[in-house]
Amino acid sequence: MEARIESVTVRVFKTLSWTVNDSDGHTHPGPELASEAAIVTVRDHDGAEGYSSCSAEALRPYVLDRYVRKVLTGEDAFLRERLWNRLYRMQRGSGGQLSDRAIGYIDQALWDLAGRKLNVPVWKMLGGARTKVPAYGSTMCGDDIEGGLKTPEDYGRFAEQLIAMGYSAIKLHTWMPPVPGAPDPDMDAAACAAVREAVGPDVPLMLDANHWYTRFQALKLGRALQELDYYWYEEPMEEASISSYRWLAEQLEIPVIGPESAPGRVHTRAEWISSGACDIMRVGANDTGGITPAIKIIHLADAYNMEAEVHGGGSGNLALLGAMENGRWYERGLLHPHFDYDRVPPHRNSIVDPLDAEGYVSLPERAGLGDDFNFDYVDANIVAGW
Ligand code: MG
Repeated sequence: MEARIESVTVRVFKTLSWTVNDSDGHTHPGPELASEAAIVTVRDHDGAEGYSSCSAEALRPYVLDRYVRKVLTGEDAFLRERLWNRLYRMQRGSGGQLSDRAIGYIDQALWDLAGRKLNVPVWKMLGGARTKVPAYGSTMCGDDIEGGLKTPEDYGRFAEQLIAMGYSAIKLHTWMPPVPGAPDPDMDAAACAAVREAVGPDVPLMLDANHWYTRFQALKLGRALQELDYYWYEEPMEEASISSYRWLAEQLEIPVIGPESAPGRVHTRAEWISSGACDIMRVGANDTGGITPAIKIIHLADAYNMEAEVHGGGSGNLALLGAMENGRWYERGLLHPHFDYDRVPPHRNSIVDPLDAEGYVSLPERAGLGDDFNFDYVDANIVAGW
């Protein structure tokens, strides 16, 4: 089958959101607000299209013209590895303009296009491994909202609700600046203790801590988590320091998971494994430059008998989980007592990751990535396009 890429375009449109970001960028529940979202479209010469949600800023006109269109236009859309590597090599001379995120959105749209042309879900193209995956409930960061996530008791109450909804595991994000008093390892440990107390000994629990603790703060908190029988400990320090993570992992029995935000894709992650800096690998379709490099990271971890846990939700991450056996959970969130994660935004007909009564998310049977966009709504609400 032939595929020649005719165009790459971005649509920015009005939609609704029910979250706000604090001064440090953390997401909290908010009132219904008008917001903007974007979709990138890769169009084949025969009219077939592939889509990915994207950041309009990452794929701004300069980036599309200068890099993406130069690489993709006229090329065979099925040659994803070739196209990914050409974009990757253009990054070096781009002065930071062509980001991993940008390449990741294009890569996901190419996978979506291939799946739609072949009428197969992407997770099956990648090597299907399962039809559903259990979800862990991933909380928003702590806040100072009454009845929200203000106190350890709030976390405990919310954890009980999450278990009642079917989640088989829970991950906490605790208090981070600008919340007064944060960050504080003792506050984090108190929230973790309240959740363990609330759900009992058998529910796997995880902590994604403040990311800028010192070594001794991170060690102290890790020892507290061990006492509480937590399942993993995530990103308590700056990830650029691999030796700090080796120092931490050597002293703890609780698995240290990482890296999540460190640049360098598969190369960095190979260094983490060979350095003994982590016990569980972290990977994500949006963090590591798309599905094409993410699947390499998953297979790298597998070769070291290591789990690779997928960071974040969405169709690309779900596709990865459908194609692997060495990762346990889908990260569903971020969740909060005052936020309805299941509410469908108007630019979609349905969400890609509904939770069933047993706490599983099913892999979509739709061709491509499985996103169910409402293009009538999108096209009626365009604010910019290029
Ligand atoms: Mg994280």
